[in-house]
Amino acid sequence: MTFFHYRAGLLHAEDVPVDEIAAAAGTPVYIYSAAAMRARYRSLAAALTGLRARICYAVKANHNLAVIRTLAAEGAGADTVSWGEIARAHQAGVAPGRIVYAGVGKGDDEIRRALQLGILQFNVESVEEMRRIAGIAAAMGRVAPVALRINPDIGAGAHDKISTGRKGDKFGVAYQEAGQVLGEAMRLPGIQPVGLHLHIGSQITELEPFAAAFARAAGVYRELKGSGVPLERLDLGGGLGVRYNDETPLDPVAYGLMLRDVLGDLDAELVLEPGRWLVAEAGILVAGVLYPKMAEERHFLVLDAGMNTLLRPAMYGARHAILPVRRQDGAADQLVDVVGPICESSDIFGRAYALPPLESGDLVALTSAGAYGAVMMSDYNSRSSAAEVLIDGPDYAIVKAMRPVEEQFADDRIPDWLPHPPS
Ligand SMILES: *Cc1c(COP(=O)(O)O)cnc(C)c1O
Repeated sequence: MTFFHYRAGLLHAEDVPVDEIAAAAGTPVYIYSAAAMRARYRSLAAALTGLRARICYAVKANHNLAVIRTLAAEGAGADTVSWGEIARAHQAGVAPGRIVYAGVGKGDDEIRRALQLGILQFNVESVEEMRRIAGIAAAMGRVAPVALRINPDIGAGAHDKISTGRKGDKFGVAYQEAGQVLGEAMRLPGIQPVGLHLHIGSQITELEPFAAAFARAAGVYRELKGSGVPLERLDLGGGLGVRYNDETPLDPVAYGLMLRDVLGDLDAELVLEPGRWLVAEAGILVAGVLYPKMAEERHFLVLDAGMNTLLRPAMYGARHAILPVRRQDGAADQLVDVVGPICESSDIFGRAYALPPLESGDLVALTSAGAYGAVMMSDYNSRSSAAEVLIDGPDYAIVKAMRPVEEQFADDRIPDWLPHPPS
């Protein structure tokens, strides 16, 4: 089922013509399909039938409240990496008992607030952090439920910047040291070990690295539980890969079968933390063409969206498929380099895209932009941010307004002791 499709040559998001949304919200604009997110969530939930498992949506992929709400209404909990994300998830309606909190750099105040709220578990990344959480919880007269993040020493992920499970990565503790760390955890006041956690990377389109890492984690889990650590949960992280161009997205049914195969007889509740897989393909970024720039050597298409709007190409070398919003019959495609307006050579979405001839004011859609897109927008070059729109069948709403430039500097202050410039 596809939620972005052409009708009479015009790209639609579910039942709404994309040019109508662009006219209402301005460009650039992120457009999300609620039905697409639900379809992904339901197919994964169905693939887990028979397993004791919960899905916690990794909020960092797209933290818009309406997006979190769409998935939370399906039953998703939230996987978070800061107090800010916990606050967002809670505000969007996720019950505290469905929120897990990971991240290598939790601050004291963040820990305190999470304890106060009563979240499901802290995914702890180091022995130092564990001691810190224990101290804060004990002082508050609380007990923090913690899962220890282990590093299974298995690399995976489409890019070096998104591989997190190798020895030498900054995440978690070496799996060989888990027993020692949890042994200390059991002696500390203010802390209750409840599980193990791992997250080996992102945009993984093969099952093997997952299976290898989960088998290793299951071995550690069994050994520790056997030696008296009261573990009840194995948190498997996210990382399920999606389609940007011609990748084959991870098949939820195959993933579910693999889980049954590797972990079916493990006495543990499983936690899944998919982010990208739930939302990436449910979103597009619609941009306006500023100029077709037909230089002699190369043809460029300059868009009003850039690395400030969608950072993935500049940051990860990612390539998003690009579609014209209005298809033209009979017009031969040309090869163009698609670039943004930012003053950086890295502000390029990619070279040699085959697109029909486009003019100023025409619209294009960058596909699979629902994850790690809007969340990474910046004020760089002081351009307006993109609006975000959620579609649900025939309905749509602006779920985040475009932030005008004046608001970007509304919080800047000029100290009154600075001299005035000449008039
Ligand atoms: C980023 C992250 C996720 C989500 O990763 P995806 O590749 O988007 O599924 C899940 N768990 C943790 C701990 C993460 O840091």
